[in-house]
Amino acid sequence: MMSPRRITYVASEKLAKTSSLLPSNRNRSSFVHALITSFGILRAPPNSPPSHIVAVLRPSPASWRDLAAYHDRSYVDALLADPPGPDSASCKEFGLEDDCPPFPGLGEYVLGIAGASLTAARELAEGRCDVAICWDGGRHHAHKSLASGFCYVNDCVLALLVLRRAPPLPPLSSSPGIPRKKSRVMYLDIDVHYGDGVAAAFRGAGARGQVLTLSIHHTASGFFPPSEHSTLPVPSSAAFDPFTLSLPLHAGASRATFARVWLTVERIIAAFAPDYITLQCGVDGLAGDPVGVWNWTLGGEGGLAWFVWRVLESSAKVLLLGGGGYTLVNTARAWALLTSIACGAPLALDTPIPPHPGFPMYAPSFILDVPTGNVRDENTDEYLTEVDAIFELVADALLTQLA
Ligand SMILES: [Zn+2]
Repeated sequence: MMSPRRITYVASEKLAKTSSLLPSNRNRSSFVHALITSFGILRAPPNSPPSHIVAVLRPSPASWRDLAAYHDRSYVDALLADPPGPDSASCKEFGLEDDCPPFPGLGEYVLGIAGASLTAARELAEGRCDVAICWDGGRHHAHKSLASGFCYVNDCVLALLVLRRAPPLPPLSSSPGIPRKKSRVMYLDIDVHYGDGVAAAFRGAGARGQVLTLSIHHTASGFFPPSEHSTLPVPSSAAFDPFTLSLPLHAGASRATFARVWLTVERIIAAFAPDYITLQCGVDGLAGDPVGVWNWTLGGEGGLAWFVWRVLESSAKVLLLGGGGYTLVNTARAWALLTSIACGAPLALDTPIPPHPGFPMYAPSFILDVPTGNVRDENTDEYLTEVDAIFELVADALLTQLA
């Protein structure tokens, strides 16, 4: 008999309160956890013996040292300054302005969310679970010494650094090989925005062969974040790095597009064969999000739930992180559904929203599913064929470099 899959869900009342301080996602964390709790997803299912064991784990806040594992010391000092907001010159230097202003509780906030993702990553790294979930994490735009795009601390990078040091998984009995000396860690980002901060952390950083980043995102002139790296790879160029990958999609990306894109992702997973996958599940590409460029839905082949389920079906241990998501109810719907899938008891899309304090917000449908939008999918068959052809070359390059 297969041993049960162990799922750790990182949450606490304190974390939800701290995470809810973020001005761009005010109260989002509490709202999401309230829906997940109301569905009873985290309670042990009545079937016996269980195929999945779910544990809720209270996170420890990060320390100054934890943040300094990636971020510059002076930047960490500025984030943790009390009262928040160093002098105005430092604010400018560290990007603590515009969409990333200093706010009351900033220090507590960054230590809280970094600590949550680190707690989740350590559970995986130390072999205590197979899937770890931390919806409060996923702040993929923060740089070494720069806040950006509502992200102050890059918990994704901190988690990847923990997983990079984790022991590799034993070879599968179905494909025995020489045991690895070091683990391979893949970062997959499905937020509508390019995961620039994470890519920058590992691009050419001597992590060759150990960390691979792949961001699937929207790009268009003027669309955040501005980056010269958010384009399709050019395998023939001298600067080509098969370990730092970008897969841009056009407007209106729907489940039909993601069903095709999955084949490309699967090719990269097969070539890299990661021990650990960190999946940043930003849901600002869902239909109805104010970002308004994609038209992704939850259900059906190629839907968000299907896509994440496919990642969970890989042989890697998986860390699920949050990210963007600016329609409160749809973010809660999506992450509740993904949690139910990870916990082995997928909710049906027409499941009624249970009575709980957030209930009235789910009008008019009062069900789990996210209504479909009507943005036209501009990702043509021709474009997706080009994407797949390029990533076939990327996969070949990976296999050559890893051999
Ligand atoms: Zn985003």
